[in-house]
Amino acid sequence: MEQQQNLFPQPTQNLQYSNSIKDPKFFELGKAIFTVSNPTNDHYTYKIKIKKFEKNTLWFVYLLTGPDNNNSYTYLGVYIPSIHGIRLTAKSKYTTESKPFQVLKWAIKKVVNKEQVPNGYKIQHENKCGRCGRLLTTPESIDRGIGPECFAMHR
Ligand SMILES: [Zn+2]
Repeated sequence: MEQQQNLFPQPTQNLQYSNSIKDPKFFELGKAIFTVSNPTNDHYTYKIKIKKFEKNTLWFVYLLTGPDNNNSYTYLGVYIPSIHGIRLTAKSKYTTESKPFQVLKWAIKKVVNKEQVPNGYKIQHENKCGRCGRLLTTPESIDRGIGPECFAMHR
């Protein structure tokens, strides 16, 4: 039997960088940490944490705002998986006009629609240092798979 061919393949995401997020399901896994960056290496790191209540489940979105990528997060809003949307709440520290909110919205849309990101832009899930196991969240460390201190030691 002839192999069926996909004549009109869906556009795929840019795979020229490591750790690209290929499926929007990632955002609702419960401990999703990811970094969105542009060609000049400006970047935001987000965390979406699941919290199960008696009657419902919420996904809280945080932005990395300090030096410790395990703990230095600021509350941004809630993620709504059914519509892939971000909703701000009374406790949100950012507005819908803020850059962190806009960048997050852009990144989620790209992943959901499996759209190619412009050259030099990256939407990456976190990585771990292959030497010490530390969480890596900057674009260059994610790509390298080794943190800055371990990298310096191994040069
Ligand atoms: Zn390390």
